[in-house]
Amino acid sequence: MQWNENLIRSVVTQVLAEVGQIPSMQGSGAATGRHGVFDCVQQAVAAARDAFEQLSERTIEDRKRIIDHIRRISIEQRVELGTMEMEETRIGRLEHKIEKLMTLGKKTPGVEFLRSEIFSGDHGLAVIEHAPFGVIGAITPVTHSLPTITGNAVSMIAGGNTLVVNPHPSGRRVAAEGVRRFNEAIYQDLGIDNLICVISEPTLESANEIFSHRDVALICVTGGPAVARAALNSGKRAIVAGPGNPPVVVDETADLARAARSIITGGAYDNNLLCIAEKEVFVVESVFDEMMSAMEQEGAVRLQPAEVDRLTREAITAVGEGAHRHDVPAKEFLGQDASVLARAVGKSVTEETELLFGETDETSPFVSVEQMMPFVPFVRCRNVDEAIDKAKQYEHGFRHTAIIHSTNVRNMTRMGRVMDTTLFVKNGPCFSALGVGGEGYLSYSIATPTGEGVTTPLTFTRERRCSMIDELCILGK
Ligand code: NAD
Repeated sequence: MQWNENLIRSVVTQVLAEVGQIPSMQGSGAATGRHGVFDCVQQAVAAARDAFEQLSERTIEDRKRIIDHIRRISIEQRVELGTMEMEETRIGRLEHKIEKLMTLGKKTPGVEFLRSEIFSGDHGLAVIEHAPFGVIGAITPVTHSLPTITGNAVSMIAGGNTLVVNPHPSGRRVAAEGVRRFNEAIYQDLGIDNLICVISEPTLESANEIFSHRDVALICVTGGPAVARAALNSGKRAIVAGPGNPPVVVDETADLARAARSIITGGAYDNNLLCIAEKEVFVVESVFDEMMSAMEQEGAVRLQPAEVDRLTREAITAVGEGAHRHDVPAKEFLGQDASVLARAVGKSVTEETELLFGETDETSPFVSVEQMMPFVPFVRCRNVDEAIDKAKQYEHGFRHTAIIHSTNVRNMTRMGRVMDTTLFVKNGPCFSALGVGGEGYLSYSIATPTGEGVTTPLTFTRERRCSMIDELCILGK
């Protein structure tokens, strides 16, 4: 073991914590040793604020080192943590829970995304740097409990912030355990605890407490319509990664085998839980039957009309009263395996079956509802213009994600313009837009209504400008 300043500081802090005396260089330090797990918002925010003060004294290199611990744990302990997430939430597919932690550990943007802008000229020099906000309040979904925290933590800490997370109640235990492991490793190496804080018994009240806390400088929510609305009404600056209902268009010029493979890999991933996942497909009439055959050849299982009707009755339910009454996925089917959905309609398929699909018309609730289960409806359209118009209609203006399979540049261009979505994917599965099998980078918080897009460390920073007048521009006479 190599002794360095940080390690010495960590050991001293630990010893003093044990005898009840925390040194003043660690801030108030009252929460040191909690490793980020709190049942009280006040205490969590105070600890995160204290951690922020300490982080502010450290170098960018230290931020990288902190993040490396999060990446390492996410990758090395992915099987244990992914299994924990699967056992607690009981939605999705285990192999994908594990893979998501690996991908986030490897690919989430870190300090390498930080940059400064410089203006130099006759009147001197201006440097624009990106500073932290402070403590960020984060709300995370059940669909990716620890993965969202992992991605948020890497990008927020890279930007110099700390965070307090209110996880979804059904994913709170894995959230707390992941956060505890991250903080413990960081504390042992760098002597700072509670950079990531989590509420162990999260409720809507604790979310609201975070929203309105004066020491929370910014909020970042990842979830469905209700939390998106709550964040936008909170009176704080909010970065909102909201819901989607990504449509797919397949035109007559598409490579149908490739389109089918893409729809299956994207639409079936983690049993269709991804917000970017293929949710409904509009296919032009002239290739509709061929496309349905391509789906079967690539391994998806087709449901007959009576089976689709039965699945609709079983797996979609209505909630709300009066004008607010609307369809939602039934809890018993959300994120369940294709074999579970098939069984519900009296069909037997192998456990390995990834995706079910079937023809519906556009009035099927599977078209309008963000179903988050591995059945994808296919709607026959007269031509590509009709397919694009329906894609626009059923994306509901979320401006989240849209996908086309085509080799016609005009059709791609028209759909891109009409959809106006944050992500627009051509000829690949949805996640290729996040640098997995395509170019670009990854985040599990894609800010849609507020427009920041795929979040990076810079999303969580504020601009600061430093101007030197008439000097320090060394060009010219
Ligand atoms: P959800 O909306 O039920 O819950 C998300 C989080 O918000 C949870 O922590 C929940 O407890 C909290 N919450 C819900 N209502 C709230 C309110 N009124 N006030 C404060 N907090 C509230 O969503 P979910 O089922 O956990 O996740 C799936 C949804 O999230 C889908 O709609 C999906 O599209 C969306 N999502 C979006 C992104 C993105 O990057 N845009 C990423 C993942 C998931």
